[in-house]
Order: sequence, then C-alpha cells, then structure tokens
Amino acid sequence: MADAEYDYDLFTIGIGSGGVRASRVAAAHGARVAAAEEYRVGGTCVIRGCVPKKMLVYGAHFAEDLEDAQNFGWDVGEPKFDWIRLRDSVQKDIDRLEGLYGETLDNHDVTVFRERAEITGDHEVTLASGKVVTAKYILVATGAQPLVPEFKGNQHCITSNEAFHLDEIPNRVLIAGGGYIANEFAGIFNQFGSKVTIVNRSDVILRGYDESLRDRLLQISLTKGIEFCFNAEFEYVEKQDDGTLLVKLTGHDEREFDLVMVATGRSPNTKGLGLDKVGVELGSKGEIKVDDFSKSNVDYIYAVGDVTDRVQLTPVAIREGQAFADSLFGDVEPYAVDHSCIASAVFSHPPIASVGMTEGEARNALGSIKVYQSDFRPMKHVVAGRSERGLYKMVVDAANDRVVGIHMIAPEAPEIMQAAAVAVKAGLTKADWDATTAIHPTMAEELVLLK
Ligand code: NDP
Repeated sequence: MADAEYDYDLFTIGIGSGGVRASRVAAAHGARVAAAEEYRVGGTCVIRGCVPKKMLVYGAHFAEDLEDAQNFGWDVGEPKFDWIRLRDSVQKDIDRLEGLYGETLDNHDVTVFRERAEITGDHEVTLASGKVVTAKYILVATGAQPLVPEFKGNQHCITSNEAFHLDEIPNRVLIAGGGYIANEFAGIFNQFGSKVTIVNRSDVILRGYDESLRDRLLQISLTKGIEFCFNAEFEYVEKQDDGTLLVKLTGHDEREFDLVMVATGRSPNTKGLGLDKVGVELGSKGEIKVDDFSKSNVDYIYAVGDVTDRVQLTPVAIREGQAFADSLFGDVEPYAVDHSCIASAVFSHPPIASVGMTEGEARNALGSIKVYQSDFRPMKHVVAGRSERGLYKMVVDAANDRVVGIHMIAPEAPEIMQAAAVAVKAGLTKADWDATTAIHPTMAEELVLLK
C-alpha cells in the first residue's frame, strides 16, 4: 500500500476523537500515518468537553446525595464543597487520559506533530515549524469551537472551554443558550451553590428533544431555583471596577453577575487550514461538505467529526473515523456510517436520554401512533423525601407495533438508554418489549410495563 511518491499515506489534522480513531486504525491496516495537533491530544471530548463535564456532573450530584442521605440514616454533618480540589482532580485525570491517547498513537507508529498544520498545496501540509510533508490522503478532524454571538462586551464572557479552569465558583452566573451545554452547566453550577440564570433567544430549551421531557426539565430546574429569561438577547456586558459584570438583556433591566458563560452552539474549525487553497467546498456554517464516505469535493481530502457538522457527538466522530480508515486502508468494501437512530443524552440534573422519533416527529412522519408513558417518583426519591418525578415515554408506530422512539428524564436515564437503544435500532415491537420480564425493583422496569 505504501506509496513512495508521498511521505505518508495519511496525514490527519486534529487529534481528537475522530482523528485518533482514524489514525490508529489506518496505521493498524498498514498505512504510514502522521497526525498534527496544535493544542492537546484528545480533542474537545477528552480535554474540555464530555469527559471533564461528566466528572463535574458526578461532583455536583453529591450536593443532593448528601441531603438525601439523611432519610437513609446517615448524618454527614455540614457538607463543605472545595471546588479547587474537584477541579484539580478532574484535570489530573484529563492529563492521564491525554497520556493514554498519545501512547495509543505511539504504539501504532503514528508520527505525532504537536503543532498546527495547514494544507499548503496538493497533497501538501506545512507545519507551524516550517516543515513540509506530503501525504496521499489528508483527513481533517479539527472539530468545532464555541460560537460566541456578536454583542458589545462579549470578550468578558467565558465559554465551556474556560469553565473547567475557574479559580472559584461564581455566586451569580448567567448562562446564554438553551441547549446541551447551557442545561448541563446550569445543573452543575446550581448544585455547587451558584444562583443560575439561563438566557435564551427563544422560549424553547433543548430544541429537538421530546416536548414532554423539555417541559419536565424546565419545571424541575425552576423548582431547584434555576431562573430562565426567554426571548431575550444580549445588548451589552460591561466589566465593572470590582470585576463583576453588568449585563443588559433585551426587555430586562441591567443586572449584575459574577460570571457570564456563552453556550450558543459550536462552529466547525475550518479557518486558516488552507482549505480554500485547494478548493475544498464549505457549507453555510463553515463546515466541510462531505459525501457518505466522509470525502470532500477534493478527492484526496476527507473530514470526520464536528468539522463536518453532521451530528456533533463523540461516538459519531469515532464511527466516522473508523469507517474512513477501514474503507480506505482496510481489506473491506468501503462502507458509510449509519447516522439514523442515534441515541443521545443530556447530563442535566436530572439527565435526559433519547433515541428515535419524538412524539411530534412520529405524528408528522407516521400519522397513526401510540404513545405510552410512565410518570413516576423513583423509590430512592420517595425515601429521601424528594418530590422530583421521572418520565418515560415510548412512541410506537400504530401500523406495525414497532417502537420508534424512547424518551426518558430520570436518574440514570442515559445508562438505561444505552441498552434500550439497541432494541429501538433493531426495530423491535411493543409486543417484544412486553414479552420481556421486568427486573424488580428498578426504574428501568417501567420500560417493559408500559400500558
Ligand atoms: P446547542 O446546539 O445544544 O444549543 C445552542 C443553543 O444556543 C440553543 O438554545 C440555540 O437557540 C441558542 N443559539 C444558537 N445560536 C445562537 C445565537 N446566535 N444567539 C443566541 N442564541 C443562540 O449547543 P451547545 O453549545 O449547548 O452544544 C454544542 C454541541 O455540542 C451540541 O449541539 C451537541 O452536539 C454537543 N454537546 C453534546 C453533549 C452531550 O452529548 N451530552 C454535551 C455538550 C455538547 P435555538 O434553540 O433558538 O436555536
């Protein structure tokens, strides 16, 4: 396979989830692979996204767990939270994971350049150091970055990138956006004792998720003391002499906050990569347009993960990286990633998990549907004296009894969903679910007892 005409068979730009998978699998198939990363090996998910965020979610949940412990007989005294200790424990583990990613690449003989890379000509990449290398194929896996809307004073706001490195937990935090990151960090800061306000340009949170779940999360968040400002946008943010931020939102009076975090989506990292020099076509958000096999309009340039803005989720980037490497360098027929019926979760407090069609989507697409619902108070909450209720919804195609969607908001919903998603993806019917004996007592048993 080695093509002496080029220095490498594959050059990967960006060593995040998609880039690591593609590089190591291509190398395992015998390709000569090099990869470049300008920041830290591991990408958004490992360094400043899913992984450290989940650790903060665990840390945050202790606030309620310690409260709940009392009715289970535990006296734990006055709980005290030390943010610096949690922050540093999380960063220590991120360092460990980064090391493991680097080792994986080393073990597969992938040459890693820890510097920025830019495409400077056909099959040609120039590194920040000035070194020029050539490759038969180039894979762009540069991910995405937080998109901060234009408004006066936006330089005083942070994004999720910085949230992991704060010196202290703010007393009053304003979070802009109503999506994944806004709701996850609202839960985190709220449990750490901040007064949290979410501001969103519309009156919808978590657009795309089932309406019943979104309503439930909104109600629970309000009960927990999170405030929502809907249909509002920033007029300005001013930094005051004492470091606090004076914020003016449309339709609202000026208010002071200690921290403003913007979580209004992420835009593909395609600037300054030299893509224009070789004529790679971009979409309206700056994403690299690719076909089903992750190939751009330039036949030796491919792209996987968030930079293509297909589905901005780590497991999807990993699958795209795997399919790319197998298809180009493996001994298999080229294959495409199936982007349908992808399960997802929001690690809010409580978490949401979802797979398949929402009730609204199914009604529009299928016409005749059946909806089964369980609105329950988890046993643990009953003993703890917590009023918070969970909600499971199953959407069934009335024509053939096939389960086309499952939507849950309750403790452990993402853990339960991973297995439930197999059944939905496999197209099992409601009768198949009903034929499965419950495991009692669990929350998950609700899924096979829906009437
Ligand atoms: P989301 O796309 O989830 O949400 C963006 C929010 O910002 C929406 O409420 C949107 O409003 C609003 N918005 C978008 N553009 C603007 C604008 N110009 N001005 C004001 N508001 C705006 O983005 P996030 O930043 O929360 O997360 C980015 C992506 O990262 C997610 O889409 C997801 O793919 C991924 N992610 C996944 C996680 C997980 O799997 N648990 C966790 C965190 C991130 P509107 O609804 O009106 O469009």
